[in-house]
Amino acid sequence: MSNFNLLKIGKLSIFSISLILLCLISFACMREKDREEKITQPIKIYTSLFVLENLTKQLIPHGEIESLITKGADPHNFEPSLKDIQKLYTANLVIYLGDTDVDRWIDKIKDELLQKGVKVLRLQDFLPMSRYTASEELDPHVWLDPLMTMQIIKIIKDEIIALNPKEKNLVEKNYLFYKEKLENLDKMYRETLLNCTLRDVISSHEFLNYLALRYNFNPHFIVHEPEDEPSPKRIKFLKDFVKKNKIEYILTEPEGEKITKSLMAEAKLEALIFDTYHKKTEKEYLSVMEENLQSLSKALKCKGNNEK
Ligand SMILES: [Zn+2]
Repeated sequence: MSNFNLLKIGKLSIFSISLILLCLISFACMREKDREEKITQPIKIYTSLFVLENLTKQLIPHGEIESLITKGADPHNFEPSLKDIQKLYTANLVIYLGDTDVDRWIDKIKDELLQKGVKVLRLQDFLPMSRYTASEELDPHVWLDPLMTMQIIKIIKDEIIALNPKEKNLVEKNYLFYKEKLENLDKMYRETLLNCTLRDVISSHEFLNYLALRYNFNPHFIVHEPEDEPSPKRIKFLKDFVKKNKIEYILTEPEGEKITKSLMAEAKLEALIFDTYHKKTEKEYLSVMEENLQSLSKALKCKGNNEK
């Protein structure tokens, strides 16, 4: 073999080795990059209701969290599109209430979601929910009671940690921070509603049951669900009832005018806005609940209520 050939083989070998090394390094780098992307990829959660989106974001603000309810839609008559349903299959976790009129459509696809590896959190299985008085159905309005909301965030917190234990410290910290705010909200409700002249409140639709049970007042409603028409018989009954009990106000969601106007006219009542937090909004849950307390304490004629 000539010197020239030896040199050539040597050069070739160095080249080959370099190439192999380069490949190995870039492969290792690629693997490392892949791994990092997997770790830093945010957890993807879909919720049925906007309030569940808002509460989940308090726990894991950097997560990809979205509710399926479209802007302006009322969950009581929300129909998901095929696209909405398909979205759920791309999630790590789906959170909903359960067999209620606002999100039972998820019950129908729950098994399929589980088969596809999507975790499903059905709050009804962990929460002490009760039935409506006007029907046999489960009453979904749990979030209007601050202490039920406290239970909800605990259940969601445990589920997120089980799904992603690396986030445990951060999620626990966020949970304790928000839990304290809910404790303060509950304290504010207790203190404001401690000394009231009335015990009965009328709302546009049947959304006050959990809140009334918690703070010891009697809830009444004009219609059961927001899409119902008020019946003349019900209006007549309530007209007599408000007169007898010196009721001056109706609590209503901002869009409840068509429900409240006949009773307001017949019984000379005023409407007070109570945001039921059904629809997508820019407002935060706690501030909405503080505003609601103002309306509630005015309706119940509470002593601590400063007329503004
Ligand atoms: Zn409702």
